[in-house]
Amino acid sequence: MNSSHTPPDGESRRKGTTSQHIAAQTVHDASKLARTSGALRWGQGLIATILALVLAFLCLLGVLAFHFPQYLTTPELRHVYSVDTMRTLLFAALIVSGGLALASIVLGNRRRLNGLAFVLVLAAVTLGGSRVSVGDFPDHTPYIGLDWFILDLLGSTTIFILLEKAFPLYRNQPVFRAEWQTDMAHFAVNHFIVGLVLLVVNFLIHHVFGWMVNAEFQQMVQHIWFLPQLLLCMLVADLMEYVTHRAYHEVPFLWRFHAVHHSVKTMDWLAGSRQHILELVVTRVAVLGPLFVLGFDKTVVDIYIIIVGFQAVFNHANVHLPWGPLRYIFVTPDFHHWHHSSEDEAIDKNYAAHFSFIDYIFGTSVKSKRAFPEKYGVVGDYVPDGFIKQQRFPFRRDNTRTDVAQS
Ligand SMILES: [Zn+2]
Ligand SMILES: [Zn+2]
Repeated sequence: MNSSHTPPDGESRRKGTTSQHIAAQTVHDASKLARTSGALRWGQGLIATILALVLAFLCLLGVLAFHFPQYLTTPELRHVYSVDTMRTLLFAALIVSGGLALASIVLGNRRRLNGLAFVLVLAAVTLGGSRVSVGDFPDHTPYIGLDWFILDLLGSTTIFILLEKAFPLYRNQPVFRAEWQTDMAHFAVNHFIVGLVLLVVNFLIHHVFGWMVNAEFQQMVQHIWFLPQLLLCMLVADLMEYVTHRAYHEVPFLWRFHAVHHSVKTMDWLAGSRQHILELVVTRVAVLGPLFVLGFDKTVVDIYIIIVGFQAVFNHANVHLPWGPLRYIFVTPDFHHWHHSSEDEAIDKNYAAHFSFIDYIFGTSVKSKRAFPEKYGVVGDYVPDGFIKQQRFPFRRDNTRTDVAQS
């Protein structure tokens, strides 16, 4: 008789059922945790469990990135960071998540979820951990920016959650607020497709703006001192941002796409990630195109990209700082929060991304006696929740409200 036809004895059947039951319960616990939102309280072990799980998951992704760097890492980043630093970071993350998971299991805190975190850590270690050797690999393969996602998630959560806890605008707003899952999906996809976006943006910039390039003029621009050149670069970018952003609000067809960004009802560092992919591409082409035509120095453009990356996240953050007169020059979270308000006095106002004086000059600044709005989102709240639904939203025919701009 073939051994595979032998019925399992009672003992192994029981074992099988028990381990299947534990696995099913663990999946259930994990998906329940991922669907939850609300405040975390110290002293209940949940923060340690979430940290262990998230770090363990990121460690496993990190090890995969070490195994397949040509497909899972971003060339622009690979050339900047040191592989040794990444190994140390991965090693530290393995120790922290493994330690937290083990301690939680010993203390009887959410054993199944911490068991899952520990299994993820073991899987990462079994696959080579922080010691995976990296050989030579080709540079021009299609890739997803997994390293960019891991590093930006670690960096942004550390910096911005600390800032939001130290200087909160809404003290009682939890980190895991309503709809955080949707914005985390936007955050992840925006990072994964960074290569594709760069490719499309570069192609469009060269084809749309290429004929305008004048080498002599570019030399002149590159000879401007560093700081004035950087400020000029930011001003040109922000004027383009202003025009594009205003068009997104005032042209009904474009508003369908931009409504996705405005549909967020809770402002925090993650909220800015909510953006339709086509809007992301079009805005980058419109803003970076003129910088390419004018020929700004590469270092200037690189620093501008760091500033815009920081400000785009910071301006949405749940942060309140005493800006004083600076708020009439630079865009602050106060200024951009008003842009996201659904109150009458704020509709179609505060378009700028870097310099608030642009809106003051063009007469499109919010003039309110209050420092902050009370309500955020789209008037009528007609944009659905969920990443896929939001990507499909501009193409839906059934929603006549999208034919009307917000104003
Ligand atoms: Zn807007
Ligand atoms: Zn915004």
